[in-house]
Amino acid sequence: MHQFFEMTEEELKTLLTSLDQKPFHAKQLIDWVYGKGIIDWNEMTNISTDLKKLLQSQISLSHLQLVHVKPSADLETYKFLWRLKDNKLVESVLICSGDRRTVCVSSQVGCPAKCAFCASGKQGFFRNLRPHEIVEQVFLINQWLKDKNERVSHVVYMGMGEPLKNYDPVIKSIRLLSNPELLNLSQRRITVSTVGIVEGIKRLSREELKVSLVLSLHAPNQHIRQKIIPYARKYPLDAIMEAMDEYAKLTKRDITFEYTLIAGINDHPDHAFELTHLLHGKSQFTVNLIPYNPVPGLRLKRPEKKAIKQFRAVLFGAKVVNTCRYTKGDDIAAACGQLALQELEKEKIA
Ligand code: SAH
Repeated sequence: MHQFFEMTEEELKTLLTSLDQKPFHAKQLIDWVYGKGIIDWNEMTNISTDLKKLLQSQISLSHLQLVHVKPSADLETYKFLWRLKDNKLVESVLICSGDRRTVCVSSQVGCPAKCAFCASGKQGFFRNLRPHEIVEQVFLINQWLKDKNERVSHVVYMGMGEPLKNYDPVIKSIRLLSNPELLNLSQRRITVSTVGIVEGIKRLSREELKVSLVLSLHAPNQHIRQKIIPYARKYPLDAIMEAMDEYAKLTKRDITFEYTLIAGINDHPDHAFELTHLLHGKSQFTVNLIPYNPVPGLRLKRPEKKAIKQFRAVLFGAKVVNTCRYTKGDDIAAACGQLALQELEKEKIA
């Protein structure tokens, strides 16, 4: 079975030709789905019933069913919970900020990384998402926005899962999202975030994609890093930093180091000093600090405002460009994987 949300116009044409059908139907199909937002064969009125029957036996359309959308109180963040064909749940988050409409997509069901501070790994790892399941998250949210005369402008791979542990499907989904005949998103507005999978970062540098890369650094040294990120043992920090440098050099894209500040773990001014040393001499980067967003059941704490200020003062003192992002939509549990986790727990109780 072919997946519609994995097919380019060329691939649709090839399929139609192989079925002894006229290739121009490819454009009609794309227009129905991507243009008019119709994902029901019955509504495609300019395609004959016979052809529809034939196509239905060859191409599968939608795989995501919306369970619910939860807006945050300020209406800036919307959490979408989807049910997949095998009943698994995944989520996407829409973040509205100024003119930007950013969709945070999931790349896996659950996560194999199991970072100490993250909700996604708590439920275990079930399976990789297929390219069409990633594309459809963006497609459906784009449809939802179209009703308000808006559209998705940015995509970040920061939902559930580790994108570089689902490498080929993630790359395929990026190519589909940026295909001018389909959703036509600029690759420069697509960001991949990784826990630090060295071979994945190296491969990504050679894909000739223009995507931004984020490393979830979260610690100024290997010792602290491996306490909170199990994958750190397999992928040592020096090898990751080398791969990140290579990414910046080969792609000429800026890179970002994400640093979740957790009280008493990685938020001391000494850690900030160490971080400035780690990043010394590097160019083309930003540090993005995120105060830890509490996850039910975890005993970690968000640092006090004063500690965050002190941490930043050290970075500013060393001219390390940094931003601090308070997680948006705390009231809808927008942190990575939290909503799907709540739903799973509800199902377990039920
Ligand atoms: N696996 C990828 C993408 C997933 S999460 C990665 O590790 O980058 C997106 C970001 O949110 C990561 O930097 C992750 O470490 C961070 N994060 C996860 N849980 C968090 C929490 N409770 N509070 C703050 N940041 C969190």
